[in-house]
Amino acid sequence: MAKEVLDTGALISWPIIRLNGCYVIPSQKMELCKIYPEKEIEIESARLIWIDPDKRSLKIATDLAIETGDMAGLSEIDLGILALSINLKSTLVTDDYRLQNLAEKAGLEWKTVSTKGIKEIWKWELRCVACKKMYPQPEKPNQKKSDWGECEDCGSKLKLKKIR
Ligand SMILES: [Zn+2]
Repeated sequence: MAKEVLDTGALISWPIIRLNGCYVIPSQKMELCKIYPEKEIEIESARLIWIDPDKRSLKIATDLAIETGDMAGLSEIDLGILALSINLKSTLVTDDYRLQNLAEKAGLEWKTVSTKGIKEIWKWELRCVACKKMYPQPEKPNQKKSDWGECEDCGSKLKLKKIR
């Protein structure tokens, strides 16, 4: 099985059996005991591997977060688990979009805590189907679903397209 680094969300919501063999950083235990003291015994009994990332990985994670502009929105634990994933070349388990984005940038596998969430980050662009003119992104979901209006140049329909 692939190595997995868990964020605190996964630590809280996954069943013990699922936690066995997963990686976490020691400061998550402190965070967890503060927020969910009743979880402590359960977490203690799981066969988790508690380690800190090495300095090199922490530096890579830090540089990356500065480069993407995500640093301001990260906690020290977020940065730590990202660095540990880089360190171990493991899958990062998180529902945090910033962390998912950073994992993606670092070339790491990642997955959501719940099995339901989306697996990939999609980007969208609004384009005319005929002349391909690009339009600014809609800021809100469209009331009429797929009706994004018409192209001001050629009058054809506009379509929202997924890009990777
Ligand atoms: Zn057009």
